[in-house]
Amino acid sequence: MSEETFWWFTDEQKELQRKITQFVDENMEEAERYVLKSEIPWPLIKKVGTEGYFGAAVPKKYGGLELGATGCAIVSEQISRLAAVGTLYLASTLGGTHQLLKYGTDEQKQEWLSRIAKGNELGAITITEPFVGSDAAGVMTTAVKDGDEWIVNGKKRFITGGGIASRYFTYVKTSEDPADRKNYSHITALIIEKGTPGFSLERVNPLIAYDNVPNSYINFNDVRVPDENRIGAVGKGWNVMMAGLNFERLMGAVNNIGNVRDIIPLLFHYTKRRVQFNQTTSRIPGIQNEIANIVAKYRMARVYVYNIAKQIDDGEEPALDASSAKWIISENVRDAAFRAIQVMGGDGLTKFFPIERIARAAKISEIAAGTSEVQKMIIYRFASKLGLYNRPVRLRWDDELNFPIKSNKESRFKGLEVNEENVLKVIAHDYKVNPGLYMTPDDVREDIGGDRELILNVFNKLKEQNLIVTHSDRTGKIALVKATYEGLKKAFPDSYYQWFPKWYSDADKF
Ligand SMILES: Cc1cc2nc3c(=O)[nH]c(=O)nc-3n(C[C@H](O)[C@H](O)[C@H](O)COP(=O)(O)OP(=O)(O)OC[C@H]3O[C@@H](n4cnc5c(N)ncnc54)[C@H](O)[C@@H]3O)c2cc1C
Repeated sequence: MSEETFWWFTDEQKELQRKITQFVDENMEEAERYVLKSEIPWPLIKKVGTEGYFGAAVPKKYGGLELGATGCAIVSEQISRLAAVGTLYLASTLGGTHQLLKYGTDEQKQEWLSRIAKGNELGAITITEPFVGSDAAGVMTTAVKDGDEWIVNGKKRFITGGGIASRYFTYVKTSEDPADRKNYSHITALIIEKGTPGFSLERVNPLIAYDNVPNSYINFNDVRVPDENRIGAVGKGWNVMMAGLNFERLMGAVNNIGNVRDIIPLLFHYTKRRVQFNQTTSRIPGIQNEIANIVAKYRMARVYVYNIAKQIDDGEEPALDASSAKWIISENVRDAAFRAIQVMGGDGLTKFFPIERIARAAKISEIAAGTSEVQKMIIYRFASKLGLYNRPVRLRWDDELNFPIKSNKESRFKGLEVNEENVLKVIAHDYKVNPGLYMTPDDVREDIGGDRELILNVFNKLKEQNLIVTHSDRTGKIALVKATYEGLKKAFPDSYYQWFPKWYSDADKF
């Protein structure tokens, strides 16, 4: 078994990996040449197209390879090792494939998916605008219907492959109605072809990296787009954009991993030949630590992304993992590249080795296709809704240990009558267990039992007497409660709340 396959790979996937790795190894030198000459790697893009790899995600009936998420990851991981080609490949294959699969009509699939699969032209994803970045729903480029056509006006920017791509999967605003905006029903997806009158290239960004990949501003000046180029229903562009998002984040993560793959052999090669203080630098523990750090994170990243790919192949939508991979792996790759520079010292900083280029590109991966901050926002949102992570972790006072411990036992107050005295006791007792925390109404109800409405009524009465304080949610409902000092005093004597470690002398208590 190759060192790069996993036990769950099928024989076909193992063979695919062998084949694509060989293809990439054979073409690495050519890719490097295009970077150093600052030339678009067209001949290499054509070669990738001839091999059929642009159709990795496209069903066979449209001329694709239908490789599934794992197969696509295998291809993308390797192709990303071909400088510039990997970036253009990714933008081109992600620019509409899943969107067409989910929302395209039969004719649209036949037309566009077969063009993606053929790979003799490039595609682009056209979302970002001068005034619209992370908040992609804010697109301002407009499209107004005129007979069987849409008239598009506006600007897009940061478009990978903008200028050299032939088809642009573009998201435009088709409603000004605030109700539609609120429901995310104000965006429509259109495919716009290069050469359409009024559709022009405005600027090519000089970036920190991607030395031979154009990253562009595009201008739309009364661009007439036939309605047959609309993908999905009018106003449903947001759903179209979201289609395949987990797959796209996975491919973004995989694309980053590929970049680390070639750093590792270079570091072993280099440090075994570099002598300082009368020893090769490979013998210096600090250098070994750095390389170990890169190797371990690289290997863990691969297990993670191929696990996500398997989940997608099994019909799951692993949103939490896809965003985690996009964030963590881009950070790891940037970290790995800068560690690699440190290991190689001054040589690492020169353009005579590819590390500095990978380091520059790695920084891009923390911003393009959704910033790390946005991924973390998504991770928090999804994780906070998962039952697995969102269940009460109740501590109960253990009288034998005289200590709060995590426990599934019923509260000592369970079954008592729900009245002011008992509810206050429950809340005041919680001060003894978790002095700094509020209780939710559900915590109180779990402890004492009884009717929810009755408990809320008791909260209001206790609040009127200044025995508890409440914290309300945005709708004004009581979300948290805590005893006031008055309430604590009323519920139990001061000694009830006291606790001292065994070693603490009585003489020092007061
Ligand atoms: C090299 C490159 C290639 C790209 N390719 C394409 C492409 O092909 N097609 C395309 O449409 N777009 C493309 N983009 C655009 C890319 O998707 C955006 O750059 C990215 O989504 C961030 O938008 P922004 O740059 O406008 O930053 P902003 O959205 O302005 O963000 C600025 C900072 O604020 C943070 N921030 C924003 N909102 C929040 C929030 N709610 N919470 C916490 N932090 C927040 C961001 O994380 C970031 O740190 C590309 C970008 C680059 C750099």
